[in-house]
Amino acid sequence: MKRKYVIPIFVPHLGCPNDCIFCNQKSISGQKTNMTKEKAKDIIDNYLKSIKVQNSQIEIAFYGGSFTAIDEKIQNELLELANTYIKEGKVESIRISTRPDYITKEILKRLKKYNVKTIELGVQSASDYILKRSNRGHTFEDVKKASKLIRWNGFILGHQMMVGLPESTRKDEIETAKKLIKLKPKMVRIYPVLVVKNTKLEKEYEEGIYKPLPLAQAIETCKELVRMFANKKIDIIRVGLQNTDEITKPGSEKSEVVAGPYHPAFRQLVESSMWYDAIVEKIKKLNVKVQEVQVTVNPTDVNNVIGHKKENVLKLKDYYDVDLIINQDEKVKQGKSKIDITKVYKDFKEENSAEDKEKNKIKV
Ligand code: SF4
Repeated sequence: MKRKYVIPIFVPHLGCPNDCIFCNQKSISGQKTNMTKEKAKDIIDNYLKSIKVQNSQIEIAFYGGSFTAIDEKIQNELLELANTYIKEGKVESIRISTRPDYITKEILKRLKKYNVKTIELGVQSASDYILKRSNRGHTFEDVKKASKLIRWNGFILGHQMMVGLPESTRKDEIETAKKLIKLKPKMVRIYPVLVVKNTKLEKEYEEGIYKPLPLAQAIETCKELVRMFANKKIDIIRVGLQNTDEITKPGSEKSEVVAGPYHPAFRQLVESSMWYDAIVEKIKKLNVKVQEVQVTVNPTDVNNVIGHKKENVLKLKDYYDVDLIINQDEKVKQGKSKIDITKVYKDFKEENSAEDKEKNKIKV
């Protein structure tokens, strides 16, 4: 199977006419100047040097959130450049991310000409009130129209939503996920709101108007959203902003983040917590005193079952006095598991004397 690679190119929208409350485009992209064809070429060539093109599926991704809203001449130059790599057989596809109110039939026709395959829309919320409160400058109706146009014109549709926008509640966010699912995206990104320097949100935060979501609450909501999208087989391609020199722990050198539920392994916290819930649910269902649980998972899930810094193992021991044994099995699908209660307290003496000889078991 071919390995997938994404060559990310951040295209900031300097001079963007919109004024989203959370946005400081320069901080998010880690870039202070506009993207040019020459700079993009350097980025692509440097990436390609480190990738074996024959065995890879390579995508050029123009991130930044408002690609089709930037100067059309720059868009076309960048797309033409990316398309050259497709024609040369070095790259397979192009992806862009943009605003829902900058999608029209004409724009899509132009994107098609340059072989763009995937379009991600910055939705953020399905509530018009919250969109207005966040100065997004578009409505959910724009999202619906754009999503339909994108799919009808044969592109792959992606959505990005935020958790913790001003005045947004967990219920609003779950409602957003429900409405997005109806629009049939192939993939989603979920971003908990961080307060970034030099944004309107920072001002509201300093004035005590905006209270960021605590990390634990952001994890709880994201868990629910991940479950909802996963149940509908929608790929969850990101949970939490990408860690960069600027998007890092508030207070650390160069950090542009002032406050909010930042964690370098945010997605792992969400996924580990979901595994923890599944294990605890199993324990609670049994009318016995559980002493040991064996979870059989695909090797790629082992770290999430253990939890960040062994959090799940320690919590299970602290709260339930339960030992966690992890069994790796390639045959178990990623994300799936078999959870067995392997020791209960009434069997303690007999079980304790039996030696565990299965080499795949990891005692954590
Ligand atoms: S997030 Fe909003 S303000 Fe920032 S570049 Fe995109 S549209 Fe403009």
